[in-house]
Amino acid sequence: MRKKIVAGNWKMNKNMQETEALLSEVSAKLPDTSATVMVSPTFVNLASAVNQLEDSTIEVIAQNMHFAESGAYTGEISADMLLNIGINTVILGHSERRAYFGETDEILEKKVKAALAKNMTVMFCFGEELADRKSDNHFSVVESQLKNALFGLDASAWSSIILAYEPVWAIGTGETASPEQAQEMHAFVRKTIATAFDQTIADNVSILYGGSVKPSNAEEIFSKPDVDGGLIGGAALVADDFIAIVKAI
Ligand code: PEP
Repeated sequence: MRKKIVAGNWKMNKNMQETEALLSEVSAKLPDTSATVMVSPTFVNLASAVNQLEDSTIEVIAQNMHFAESGAYTGEISADMLLNIGINTVILGHSERRAYFGETDEILEKKVKAALAKNMTVMFCFGEELADRKSDNHFSVVESQLKNALFGLDASAWSSIILAYEPVWAIGTGETASPEQAQEMHAFVRKTIATAFDQTIADNVSILYGGSVKPSNAEEIFSKPDVDGGLIGGAALVADDFIAIVKAI
């Protein structure tokens, strides 16, 4: 079912004490909202974050996982390990994973399938680079990212998918897609899913926008009909900014 969501991707930021302090401040200041609020600290702080937020509506999610069940994959984390500490949702396909860690569409398809096989929810990130947009290839790039990693799934899998459109040129750069550019791409994504699957699936999937969302631009971006919320990087590291973005939805 389509939901409003604000998710904070903390990336490789905040040590244990800083994580605890930020979570305390965010949960203390969290307004009453029908939106789902998620935070994603680093792996080493996930278990303590789950414990700390036990009585909170804030959901703790993971930034990544491996596709294998277990075994000789030094440095990696499995779906079962996440589930074991109470994490049910994982971000996959973030552009930083694609760019710096060589995650291809093929690897991402495996990861998505592995997470879904364990009944986890996947927040799947995709988005074009600046050169793609400049050469007017942004729609075809996005279409192929979705097709390669997600279109082999059964229709029933879509109830466990959240999409996050994150144009690479807008991530951490201070440059935001205009609300019109976000709306245009989100509508395109919905149409592409309706064609590949059906209109109900397309209507029900939540599509978040990510890329330099701030308190000053969140409300306008979130007001667009096909934008169901945001995946927030830098602004999620400052409690008041993150809370202002939650209020904007
Ligand atoms: C992100 O990395 O998912 C992101 C959207 O980052 P930022 O908000 O800092 O652009």
